Amino acid sequence: MAPTYDLLIIGGGMVGASLATALLPVADSLGLSIAVIEAQAMPSPGEPYQPSYDARTTALSFGARSFYERTGVWQRLAEHLTPIEHIHVSDKGHFGAARLHAKEEGVPALGYVVENHWLGRVLLDHLRDKGQGAVDLICPAEVMSLTHQAGGYKVEVQSGGDRYECQAQLVVMADGGRSELRNTLGIPYSQESYQQYALVSNVSIDRPHGGVAYERFTATGPMALLPSEPQGYEQRCGLIWTLPEASIDRVLNLSDRAFLQELQETFGYRAGRFIRVGERYHYPLKLTVAQEQVRTGLVMLGNAAHSLHPIAGQGYNLALRGVTDLAETILASCRQQRALGDLEALQAFEQKRRQDQFRTIAFSDKTMKLFSNSNSISALGRDLGLQLLDVSPLLKTLLARSAMGLDYPALRI
Ligand SMILES: Cc1cc2nc3c(=O)[nH]c(=O)nc-3n(C[C@H](O)[C@H](O)[C@H](O)COP(=O)(O)OP(=O)(O)OC[C@H]3O[C@@H](n4cnc5c(N)ncnc54)[C@H](O)[C@@H]3O)c2cc1C
Repeated sequence: MAPTYDLLIIGGGMVGASLATALLPVADSLGLSIAVIEAQAMPSPGEPYQPSYDARTTALSFGARSFYERTGVWQRLAEHLTPIEHIHVSDKGHFGAARLHAKEEGVPALGYVVENHWLGRVLLDHLRDKGQGAVDLICPAEVMSLTHQAGGYKVEVQSGGDRYECQAQLVVMADGGRSELRNTLGIPYSQESYQQYALVSNVSIDRPHGGVAYERFTATGPMALLPSEPQGYEQRCGLIWTLPEASIDRVLNLSDRAFLQELQETFGYRAGRFIRVGERYHYPLKLTVAQEQVRTGLVMLGNAAHSLHPIAGQGYNLALRGVTDLAETILASCRQQRALGDLEALQAFEQKRRQDQFRTIAFSDKTMKLFSNSNSISALGRDLGLQLLDVSPLLKTLLARSAMGLDYPALRI
C-alpha cells in the first residue's frame, strides 16, 4: 500500500470494481493513482472459474453492455452470459399480460443474465492484468476509519493483524448497503421496510427457457424468473420470490419437493414444470437512500448510496450509471486541474444522480406497490394497463427502452 492515492475506493464488489475498471484506460495518461480496498479475500489470479448450480445472478440491462464494451471486458464477460430475448409480465389470476421482444425493439437482447461471481471475477482479473502500476488491489483488508483533513481523507486500514494509514484526495464508499462507515461518519439516510423478504434460488425447468424472463405478480408478492446458463443438461433459471415476513421461514424450511409444489402452484406452468431447486437464500427488503451522497473528498456509490427492491432488477444498473457519471466527473477534474474532491464538482454529480435515482426508485417502488395491492379496482386497472401495453407498440418501446437502460450515459473515457 502506498502512503497516498488520488482515488481510494472502499469495497471491491460489483460497483467498486466497476469504477476502477472505468478509470483504468485513462489512469496512466492522467497519472491517476487508484486503490481498491476489499474486506473479502479474492480468488487467486489464474484460478479456474467454477460455475456452480447455486450461483446468484444479476440481470444487466442492454445499456450496461456499452459500459463493458468501452472498458474492454465485454468479450470475456460474454463467455457466461444468457441473453434475455423476451420479457413476459403477467398478473396471476387476472387477464392482463404484456410481452416485450428483442427483435421487435431491434436489439440482439433486452438484457443479459450474469452470475455475480463471474462478473466479479472478470472485473477483478481485468484490474489485476491491466491495472499494474495504476490500480492497487488491497485485499483482504478493511477500512476501519476515515478522517477528513486538508486535501482529502486520512484512511485507516486493517489487514490481518496489522494497521496502516494512507491519504486520499477522493474516497469513494462502495462498501454496500450495510456500510458501517456511513454510520460512523453520521451520514443520514432514509429507510423504509417493505415487510417482505426476497427468497433467491436457482431452479430447473423441464423445457428450454427460450431466453424468456418472467415478471409475475401474485397475491403474496411479485416473482421474477430469469433465464440462466444451463448446467449440464438442466435448464436453469434464477428465481426471485418476494414473500411476506410472516411466510419466509415456512417457505425456506419446506422440503425441496414441497417447495417445488408450492412454487408451481404460485407461478403456474407458463415456464414449464419445476423439477429441481438449489440452495435457498433470503434478504429482507428495504428501500434505503443516503440523504447526503457527497461531501468534500467523499462520494457514496452503489448500495451504500441506495438499495432498492430487487424485483425490477434495477439496483446494479442504476449504480453502474452512477459509476459512469462519477468516472466522467473525475476525468473532467483531472483535465481541468481541479482537486478530485472539489465539492462543487461532486455536488453537480450528485444532482444529476438524484434525478436518475428518483425516477428509477419511483418506477420499481410504485410497480411493486401497485402489483402488491389486492384491491379489485387496482387489479382491474393494472390488468387493463398490461393489455393496453401489450397492443401498443409505442408504449412497449418506451417501457423496453427504460427496462433496457437505453438512456445510459455513454462512457466517453
Ligand atoms: C435478491 C437480489 C437480486 C438482485 N438482482 C438484481 C438484478 O437483477 N439487477 C440489478 O441491476 N441489481 C440487482 N440487485 C441489486 C444488486 O445486487 C446491488 O445493486 C449490487 O450488488 C450492489 O453492489 P455494491 O458493490 O454496491 O455492494 P456490495 O455487493 O455489497 O459490495 C460491497 C463490498 O464492500 C466490501 N466492504 C464493506 N465494508 C468494507 C470496508 N470497511 N473495507 C473494505 N471493504 C468493505 C464488502 O466486502 C463487499 O465486497 C439485486 C439485489 C438483491 C438483494
